[in-house]
Amino acid sequence: MKELSPIDLCGCGDTGYLSKRTIPIDLAQGLGHIHQVPIYHCGSKLCDQYTLPSLVVSRIDDLADIMEEKGLQSLEFYWEDQEGPQDFSSLVESLIGRLSNHKYEDVIVIFVLPGQSIVFQSQQDSSEFYQLKYLQKDDKGTWFSFLKFYSEEPLTVEEFPEYEPTYVKELGVIAIDEVEDALNDEFGGVI
Ligand SMILES: [Zn+2]
Repeated sequence: MKELSPIDLCGCGDTGYLSKRTIPIDLAQGLGHIHQVPIYHCGSKLCDQYTLPSLVVSRIDDLADIMEEKGLQSLEFYWEDQEGPQDFSSLVESLIGRLSNHKYEDVIVIFVLPGQSIVFQSQQDSSEFYQLKYLQKDDKGTWFSFLKFYSEEPLTVEEFPEYEPTYVKELGVIAIDEVEDALNDEFGGVI
């Protein structure tokens, strides 16, 4: 497991955020694919470029050798010192960091618990709050819980871990890939 910086450059030259995608690879047996490869991408739907961290480039060469040896067409990316699937914590951190810089139509970000949660407050009703909270990773994906709650008291980041809101409603459990769209829908889009 290598530590990759959560931020670098996208292939287009904009700031790139650590995420994962399937990349094609030329093998002796033809075109293959490696899934879940760490890359940097700016997050724009219009941008089809990305960059590969240099550690990942050299690992891909090794994985290509393994695929050729075993005759595999596809493989999930893994590091040489890794047995199981990758730890997703840096992906979660990267997503939360990116979202916390967004300005939405209907809410403001009031604070972030790094790697865990973002708390939003409604612009219309100051007692209305939303929380996006990392839940877990399982073999189907990485999951967040999206909650709505009310508080007459102002919230602070110091008190929040102990805070138990009343009238909590879970709006949904969302896969990591769908979080940004779900927030855009709920919050009237990014401005
Ligand atoms: Zn880009």
